[in-house]
Amino acid sequence: MVKLRNIFSAKSTKTSEGQNDLSEVVLEIEGMTCDHCATGIEKKVGQLAGTASQKVNYPEGKGIFSYDPEKVSKKEIVDTINGMGNYSVKKEVPASSNGQKTEEEVTFSISGMTCDHCATSIEKRFEGHEGMVSKSVSYPDEKGTFTFNPDKISRQEIIETINKGGNYKVQKEIEGNGNLERAAPGQYDLIIIGGGSAAFSASTTAADLGLSVLMVNAGLDIGGTCVNVGCVPSKHLIRAAEQIHRAQHSPFNGVSGINPSFDFKKTIQQKKALVAALQKKKYLDVVGDLENITILEGWAKFVDAHTIEVDGKQYKGMKFLLATGATTKIPDMPGLEDVGYLTNETLFDLEEQPKHLIVLGAGYIALEIAQAYHRFGTKVTILHRSERLLRTQAADITDDLTAHFIDEGIDVHTNVSIQKFEKNGDAIVAHTNEGTFEASHVLVATGTRPNTNGLAIENAGVQLNKTGHILVNNKQETNVGHIYAAGDCTDTPAFVYTAAKEGKVAVLNAFKSTGDTVDYTGLPWVVFTDPQIAGAGMDEKEAEEAGIPYETSVMPLTEVPRAQAALDTRGFIKLIRNSETDKLIGGRIIAPEGGELAMQISLAIKAGMTIQELADAFHPYLTLSEGVKLAAITFNKDVSELSCCAS
Ligand SMILES: Cc1cc2nc3c(=O)[nH]c(=O)nc-3n(C[C@H](O)[C@H](O)[C@H](O)COP(=O)(O)OP(=O)(O)OC[C@H]3O[C@@H](n4cnc5c(N)ncnc54)[C@H](O)[C@@H]3O)c2cc1C
Repeated sequence: MVKLRNIFSAKSTKTSEGQNDLSEVVLEIEGMTCDHCATGIEKKVGQLAGTASQKVNYPEGKGIFSYDPEKVSKKEIVDTINGMGNYSVKKEVPASSNGQKTEEEVTFSISGMTCDHCATSIEKRFEGHEGMVSKSVSYPDEKGTFTFNPDKISRQEIIETINKGGNYKVQKEIEGNGNLERAAPGQYDLIIIGGGSAAFSASTTAADLGLSVLMVNAGLDIGGTCVNVGCVPSKHLIRAAEQIHRAQHSPFNGVSGINPSFDFKKTIQQKKALVAALQKKKYLDVVGDLENITILEGWAKFVDAHTIEVDGKQYKGMKFLLATGATTKIPDMPGLEDVGYLTNETLFDLEEQPKHLIVLGAGYIALEIAQAYHRFGTKVTILHRSERLLRTQAADITDDLTAHFIDEGIDVHTNVSIQKFEKNGDAIVAHTNEGTFEASHVLVATGTRPNTNGLAIENAGVQLNKTGHILVNNKQETNVGHIYAAGDCTDTPAFVYTAAKEGKVAVLNAFKSTGDTVDYTGLPWVVFTDPQIAGAGMDEKEAEEAGIPYETSVMPLTEVPRAQAALDTRGFIKLIRNSETDKLIGGRIIAPEGGELAMQISLAIKAGMTIQELADAFHPYLTLSEGVKLAAITFNKDVSELSCCAS
């Protein structure tokens, strides 16, 4: 941002007697050691007849003096300062020809500060620096604002001065709001359709920019999928189910398994309370105080590319963000509608425990729910039409998981095609190519479809792909200049953290043209089964498709000290490297709490680490992360040759 200020202007004001014009001079003064010195100079110069005002700034090493040139000269002021003995005028700071001095202001986000002292020490680096007019660095905000004379110090020099020594690092320039494009009266700057994670991240970014925002949401409660019917309820229930399972199954000879008391209804009620609390804290309260954000409940559809209609009323926007999410895709199966079914939107609220649940599907949502409800004591039958569970993953991972599911007593059927559903009294019967299955409830978790069909999106001219997802580039731009899209309604990875990032990037590009992009390199993800499945970067198939020469190393948990000590050696850690460069390009994990390793692998990929560097890095003994190191070492060594704390 460039700001023009006029603090050094050569003024033409009258003296107190109202007779003569005053002149002003700015002097750079050396030798001051404290504010007291500045006051001393002001006093001394003030004693000269004809001086009108003087303002000396010790940290800046400057003084501004206004005086009546007919009574006192500039030279006399300079001589007076030099005559004080301790100080010397280095030079006059020239004003530009039109009497205005151009200053620029820049704000940087700065990482690496750990306390207020760091902020002060960054400010000190500019003390006496020619061209630096003022600086204000804040440790809690992780940013610094600098007003400077670009003729004397450049932005790059400021960045280099901050970065010098390596403790602090300028991350990026934070732009101000002065140059934002704003809507015409009667329009919102931004209309967001949807009220989930992508929408909220976008709306808070927009609020920071001072934009007027209309957020329209219907279907799910505010907060959307994650908090209401997705991540939060599922992970809460998974943890509760794990508690039961662990109590019942002890691998330690001295610790007997017990049957803990379990109240399904209370568990669901606690889940409801948690969802309500987090929905309030993380969504409603976040926007509650933001005056510029208006939330409207209702279904939005496009009238034209700048107008939407909600409940018969029209709203105009300068720019739009589509963040309508996705919903369970209900397969077209004879009898399914008639017998009734559950989805993640209804199951988690059921306070009466299902006796027997048929789970249709075997993606991560289906598997997480199947295992949790099985552990609650519901009989679970998975009916899946493909050959393997979690079929997007390599067979070694899914075969291992399937074996653990079967070991636990979950009834798993693959290659199943459903012929029809029908009722038998209270029971639901599924007729399939594998025989009939009877259950009390059916859960549909066969995948999702984007919520783009009710938007009348054709009226805005936004392009969709074959599956109905909105096509976006890596700046979240659609094919229509002022319309952006983010989250599960787009053809990008469908996670809550990607949705939030995309929402933010969309707003920055829409209003600030920052050119920010979303980079999914090394994207980490986790499936919260037990053992968990996690990954980052490419697997073998993706490497092959990308034409990258690769090698893999697989470290079974039977060889990882953490797992040996815990007597739980289910799973393995697999690393994938570019066999030409030795760089890590991906990793897959199946392990209890294995999701905790996803970030390590993701960061290593992003940092461009080689397998050798991973193998050389210290990993704390008896952590699961040590398994990553061991997997790295075994690219070149047999695991049986490794001793304890191998390096
Ligand atoms: C069971 C389950 C577990 C999950 N677990 C995880 C996890 O552990 N980690 C993770 O990262 N992700 C998880 N996810 C995925 C994650 O929840 C989603 O990726 C994320 O919430 C998508 O956010 P969004 O903003 O794109 O859409 P949503 O949060 O779905 O929000 C879209 C909103 O827009 C509304 N809407 C749609 N059309 C219109 C319209 N025309 N007008 C007005 N409003 C409209 C919708 O009803 C909804 O309220 C899980 C999902 C499920 C279902």
